[in-house]
Amino acid sequence: DDRIISANLMMEDQAVEYSLRPRYLSEYIGQSQVKENLKVFIEAAKLRKEALDHVLLYGPPGLGKTTLSNIIANELGVNLRTTSGPAIERPGDLAALLTNLQEGDVLFIDEIHRLHRTVEEVLYPAMEDFALDIMIGKGPSARSVRLDLPPFTLIGATTRAGLLSAPLRDRFGVVSRLEFYSTDDLAFIVSRASEILGVSIIGEAAQEIAMRSRGTPRIANRLLKRVRDFAQVRGDGIVTHELARSALSLIQVDPLGLDSIDHKMLRAMITIYRGGPVGLDTIAATIGEEGQTIEDVYEPYLMQIGFLQRTPRGRMVTPLAYRHLGLPVPEEKGG
Ligand code: ADP
Repeated sequence: DDRIISANLMMEDQAVEYSLRPRYLSEYIGQSQVKENLKVFIEAAKLRKEALDHVLLYGPPGLGKTTLSNIIANELGVNLRTTSGPAIERPGDLAALLTNLQEGDVLFIDEIHRLHRTVEEVLYPAMEDFALDIMIGKGPSARSVRLDLPPFTLIGATTRAGLLSAPLRDRFGVVSRLEFYSTDDLAFIVSRASEILGVSIIGEAAQEIAMRSRGTPRIANRLLKRVRDFAQVRGDGIVTHELARSALSLIQVDPLGLDSIDHKMLRAMITIYRGGPVGLDTIAATIGEEGQTIEDVYEPYLMQIGFLQRTPRGRMVTPLAYRHLGLPVPEEKGG
């Protein structure tokens, strides 16, 4: 599976991915609102020698939630423990994680919306009172014992805050939404990554990659690596504008960053369902993709650039998308 925009990392990419990850807030590009606020909260927590309030980060995959939680722990000067919602199978697994934390540590739970209910319930008193309620014994003699935990900071990440239960959401003191990045910010990220990877790239090429990265740093870095391959094999190692453009079209990333799945989905919606409205599950079944993947990975960007609209009756393709695909806009859509 060599898809460019899929949410999962390929194994070979992980070491590089790690080297490209900014370590400090000052290296973290864009997201200025979120950054400014966090800077104050981190400073205040350090002044008071307290644990930072629990932080919820949400937004589409690849926008820098994991990176930001690493940075927060770094800036606080504490340890970071990383896990994910689906990885914590039983309440005891979470209890083990929590009791191993040191004062002020950060526990990062990725995909926190996928926590099991029984696990989530252990989290409530842990977040609120830094306490763990454990049951000792069975049957009539069973009793609950409360264990104290060191004050810690939970950072939760999710692609959609709406999937969190209200009691969990309410226990986060800081809730930050990450936004898609501007082309200029992404061009900066590409230039910085090029330096780290030792790639010579000219400004226009970095800009070209940025424009095709769907507002997403992870995709920008990934496109840069693929373009670098072409520069090394087909060119003289330097990423020129022309080389970037032809490499990107060879790997089927169009000038707006849409790939073959975006195209397949929009075309299916137009040719089979007259541009909608059509339900997510129907779209998913028609093109053979997971509804969840469409909703988390593809749709947010298509909505951001105004190609898709969500209505109570389903998704609709807009005239902008028809034009991008070179298809006539039907009259009732204002064509
Ligand atoms: P998420 O957890 O939201 O899926 P990640 O934190 O894993 O996203 O980010 C993916 C990659 O994108 C990181 O490895 C990092 O190289 C890059 N990245 C993310 N945000 C930034 C940023 N603000 N500045 C520079 N690089 C970034």
